[in-house]
Amino acid sequence: MTERVKSLIFRLEREQSLPEREYAELIRDRDEEAAALLARLASEKRRAVFGDAVYTRGLIEISSICKNNCLYCGIRRDNILAERYRLTPEEILACADEGHALGFRTFVLQGGEDPFYTDEVLCGIVRQLKERHPDCAVTLSVGERSRESYQALREAGADRYLLRHETADPDHYAKLHPREMSFDNRMRCLRDLKELGYQTGCGFMVGSPFQTPENLAGDLKFIETFRPAMCGIGPFVPHRNTPFRDHAPGTAELTLFLLSVIRLMLPEVLLPATTALGTVLPRGREAGILAGANVVMPNLSPVRVRKKYELYDNKICTGEESAQCRDCLQQRMRSVGCFPAVDRGDAPGYTSAKKNGIINEGRKKHGKIRSEIPESGRIHQ
Ligand code: SF4
Repeated sequence: MTERVKSLIFRLEREQSLPEREYAELIRDRDEEAAALLARLASEKRRAVFGDAVYTRGLIEISSICKNNCLYCGIRRDNILAERYRLTPEEILACADEGHALGFRTFVLQGGEDPFYTDEVLCGIVRQLKERHPDCAVTLSVGERSRESYQALREAGADRYLLRHETADPDHYAKLHPREMSFDNRMRCLRDLKELGYQTGCGFMVGSPFQTPENLAGDLKFIETFRPAMCGIGPFVPHRNTPFRDHAPGTAELTLFLLSVIRLMLPEVLLPATTALGTVLPRGREAGILAGANVVMPNLSPVRVRKKYELYDNKICTGEESAQCRDCLQQRMRSVGCFPAVDRGDAPGYTSAKKNGIINEGRKKHGKIRSEIPESGRIHQ
């Protein structure tokens, strides 16, 4: 590691910010030693804010039907070989019931932009989910919608929304998406979500086609300025039935490096160790935690549909039942000295959960973490 890179890392830690060109320099001139230093500082930062807790979210993949045609995505509209499914509202609620019994207190409803889920349908699901499980947070990840739609969903009870920005560079965005999709609309969505009081998540693929260190520096600057509550980054993994089938995947090495940078930049951000990271590296999620991540998302979708939600090739965790998935991730977290937290795991500083009488106890500075998710059975009887 050069003295220059070392000084950039310590400046980032101190000031939680670098000029964009210095982010690019850090990425370009990184080496193993620099990554190790960054990971150490990022881990310390994670522990200072969250202790040894890793927040666990129950992921429910509600539909593999999508009207869009993003060039990198395995369930894009033009992939006629993709197997399509859609969970009914009853099936989604049943997944959440099972997850609640297993100890989950956040549900992430993720899917393609499926026109079946009108505001009426989706608001109904959110409302019923919150009625059945008022101690839980609901995260939505169902793409671009109108401000009115986001508002209706928020009023129905949705707490968080994940919408990866994918790239902060409009030219790069145009290379990853079809002409009918617009960078400006993606940014409009993110602004609306934040203004409407969602804990908002953005993020991007590491190593996506045509991505340069300068693009990544732009992404980091965007994240630094936007200050999301959550940030999802994972390596690009090509899918065999997409126009990007022959592009090289992103690396775990660069993904881990960037996780550490983001943790130093935004110490309180909710930062998942993604399934894509676990796909390109056997112990990728554990490595993600050691690089500064603090969230994992076991899959609660019915096993019969898991393989059909195939955004990229060789996706892991498609065969296990929900309880197995939870247990596996618990083991993995313990192996790196962490434990899965049982509470909603709101972003620090987020207050509406407190208004509802639910206190986020996951933050070290606000006291001790309550307990682990039990091996089996209900936790709040
Ligand atoms: S990335 Fe999302 S919006 Fe794009 S095609 Fe895939 S599911 Fe649809």
